[in-house]
This record gives sequence, structure tokens and C-alpha cells, in this order.
Amino acid sequence: MTMRYEQTDPTIRIFILHEEPEVIFGDGRWNEGPCYLPASRMFVWSDIPEDRLMRFDEISGTVCAFRTPSHHANGNTVDRQGRLITCEHGTRRVTRTEFDGTVHILADRFEGRRLNSPNDVIVKSDGSIWFSDPTYGIDSDYFGNLGESELGVASVYRLDPVTSTVEAVITSMIQPNGLAFSRDESRLLVVDSARTGGPHLPAHIRLFDLSSKGRPEDRGIVVEASAGLFDGIRLDDQDRIWAATGEGVHCYSFDGRLLGKILTGGPIINLCFGGPKRNILYMCGPREVLRVPVRARGQNTFLENGKAS
Ligand code: MG
Repeated sequence: MTMRYEQTDPTIRIFILHEEPEVIFGDGRWNEGPCYLPASRMFVWSDIPEDRLMRFDEISGTVCAFRTPSHHANGNTVDRQGRLITCEHGTRRVTRTEFDGTVHILADRFEGRRLNSPNDVIVKSDGSIWFSDPTYGIDSDYFGNLGESELGVASVYRLDPVTSTVEAVITSMIQPNGLAFSRDESRLLVVDSARTGGPHLPAHIRLFDLSSKGRPEDRGIVVEASAGLFDGIRLDDQDRIWAATGEGVHCYSFDGRLLGKILTGGPIINLCFGGPKRNILYMCGPREVLRVPVRARGQNTFLENGKAS
């Protein structure tokens, strides 16, 4: 692997320049959905076409399958109680793995119609579960099961933690994909990865204001992809955006100014922070899963509205 760092703003040190990303897994077909479970020091991700969830044990440094079949799972996250939430392309649903190991269906329909193929998922401190629902998992048998969109639109949904009601909160994007809340949860970033359908289509990160009651308010594009397209994004605890791109990882300020790049020698599809200090950047490429320590800490999603509870 040939890799290098580009530090666009030299006053902001975000990389450890002598560190090279370490390959922790090299046998994937299409790795996505990275998620770190701090209590068990376990990094979990999805190998979508191989129909398996994988896990990396941070203590022993070993990789094994975690769940197979995974129903072509894609995005994973942990909720405030540490339970695994998973987007499944194959079954077109969002599930939660309970403490006893059973898998509970959280959402598989909106207004009576089947979802397309839930892709990425995040949990707010109020317990609500927000997920994107583009069509990638029904566009082919590779990423899921070829099928029709019953909804005819790809939206971002909010699942109410009390009533289990699913509400379409963003319906204006073409292929909504990666999601991230700002640290104070007043703003939401959403990737549109529609560029997969042609060069004229969007490949950007869009900002939504959540401060008023009702639907998120569209505040426009934060940054356009300069290398391929964006898929997964994560914020660090300074609200800097770490984005997976066609040439590796880009880091931006919250208002979209490029701070630096990790050029990994190939595309990165998705990423997340892990480790006891949340300063290990885990990166999913198509074949390889990588990790590298950085001079940043991932957002602590176990805090309430950015403050310790
Ligand atoms: Mg995605």
C-alpha cells in the first residue's frame, strides 16, 4: 500500500505523520458499516456481498465472523445503551441486537410500503434512531436482493423511541447515505451519494438544522466531493468532519474547509473512531479494513447532548 498524508492547514495537526495505516483485514469483498463497541473493545463491520458481519477484537488483534448470514447488512451503530443497531439491505429493515442476543426488528416499512434498503444509522441522545434509505441494496443482487422500490423515493427516516413510529424527515435528496449529528445535536449532516448513478448527479455533504420543531431545515451543501463521492462520515469531538472518499479520508472543518487528507492508495467507503481514547480511525475499503491512530478523538456518542449525563 502506498499512502501519504496531506496536511492542507499546517496549523491544525490532526495526523501522526510517522504512522501508516495498518491492514487488520484484507479478505473482504465490500466492507462497510464500521462501528466500535467500547465496552467489549470490539470493532464490528459489514462485508455486504459476503453476507456477513465481521468483528475485530482490539485486545487479541484477531478477526472473525460475527454474524452470518447478516442479510447483507450495511450500516451499524450502537445506541446509548450500547446495543448494536444494524441496517439490513437483504431484509430491507433496521434491527437491534438485544442484550440476550435476539434480533429485534425496529423498522421495515413506511406507511405500509417496504423500505428500500436502509444504509446508515445514527442514534440521538433522546433515543430516536435516524437512518437513510437509498436503493443500493435493491439495485442488484450484489449488495442485497434485486427488487423494486415500493416507496419510489429515498428518504431519511426518524424512528421514535417511544411510539416506534417511522417518520420521513428528509425527502429532498436523491441517494441519502452517511449521517452524522453535530456534537450538540442541533445540526445533522447527510451525504448524498447519487453520483454512483452518473457524473451529473450529486456527491456532497448537506447540512440540516434541527433546532426548530418539525422537519430538519435544509441549510445547503457543506462540501462537494473532490475525489469520487462521499459515503460514510464521522465527526470528531471538535465537530470536524472525517469523510470517506475515492482516494482515502478527507478531514474538513464543520463549514467544509479542507484540513487534510489520508491518501490510502485507494477508495475508503466508510470509517469510524474506536479505541479506549476514540483516537483510532478505522477505515473500510472495498477489500481491506485499515486502522491508524490520529490526533483527534471521535465524538463521544454516549454523552447526553455533548455533556456527561
Ligand atoms: Mg453508506
